[in-house]
Amino acid sequence: MAAITRQSKAGVRELCTSLDPQETIRRRCDERDPPAGQDHDGQTELFPDLRQSGYVLPVPTNGETRLRHSGWAAARSRVRAALVAANAPAARVERFDACGAGAWVEYSDVGGVYRLKACYCHDRFCVPCCAAKAAKLARRVVSAPLAGEVRLVTLTLADDGQPLHERLNRLQASYAALRRTRLWKRAVKSAMSTYEITRGRTGDHWHVHLHAVVDGSYLSQAGLSAAWHEATGDSYIVDVRAVDDPRRGIEYVAKYAGKGVDASVLRDHDALIEAITALRGRRLLLFTGVWRAVAAVKVPSRYADWRDVGNLVQVVRAYHRNEPVAVAAVLSLRLWGLLDGEGAESRPGGLDSVEGPGV
Ligand SMILES: [Zn+2]
Repeated sequence: MAAITRQSKAGVRELCTSLDPQETIRRRCDERDPPAGQDHDGQTELFPDLRQSGYVLPVPTNGETRLRHSGWAAARSRVRAALVAANAPAARVERFDACGAGAWVEYSDVGGVYRLKACYCHDRFCVPCCAAKAAKLARRVVSAPLAGEVRLVTLTLADDGQPLHERLNRLQASYAALRRTRLWKRAVKSAMSTYEITRGRTGDHWHVHLHAVVDGSYLSQAGLSAAWHEATGDSYIVDVRAVDDPRRGIEYVAKYAGKGVDASVLRDHDALIEAITALRGRRLLLFTGVWRAVAAVKVPSRYADWRDVGNLVQVVRAYHRNEPVAVAAVLSLRLWGLLDGEGAESRPGGLDSVEGPGV
């Protein structure tokens, strides 16, 4: 199979190397939690050498932007405006803007599959990046051996009218206190947890919940409520329920993590600014027990020997020439949203279906 040349993207490809473009989308979203002390909010200057050399991050083409961001274009504009208003570092905004650029199609003879790779910002306010990361982490946890039964736990913090920063601090501290209780230590061997942050119906206060999927033994609702009240001092509303299918439980919590910021926040400029500020440097997805190690292990691609097919423009042009490789790539990666020019709608989630089956 002859690969389409990559002449027109050569420069971008070199640039993308510094953005770790050798990774697939799945791989790129396969990032481990940064070491302690390192920024978790995507604000660390990741490419100092690149920036010192005067290199400019790539600008996504219209097709690349549509493919990656069509499902949340309006909200993305609001997030960008809020990032700027919240005085986010310029490097972070640049990466946010560059998310999806340099998209490139590859094919593996070994697996008979195509994949699409590009530069990704990994910003926690970038919906597709957030969803892909959460999905990847969930897939790792699903593969972990279980010590007992899987349960879903929801912890709610009573409304105290405090700003989001204080509420999250309190929720984090309370959850840490809960994990130190005898009840939790006895019943829970591993856990994956994340936060759900929403605005109240009147839009003037914050709701914060903690969703966790836990592996272990019986955890009574009454016992957990009492322990949560002890940990918080004023909150006792909890929910705990066993799930028959561990995979579904893990995916349920991953869904909250992958959702990123709630729609009630995404549509509120001031709330977005407060959320960007409050979440700066804060770990949102937490693993404990065995799952902590499992989530940290990067799983290599199942396939090898990837070879170039071409960038999006080249693939689409080759598709219109009925070149079999390009036709198969478009079908496999669901790139049909790019076929009819700039006005075409792309299918939601196109980039997250990166390793499609060979056709
Ligand atoms: Zn992104």
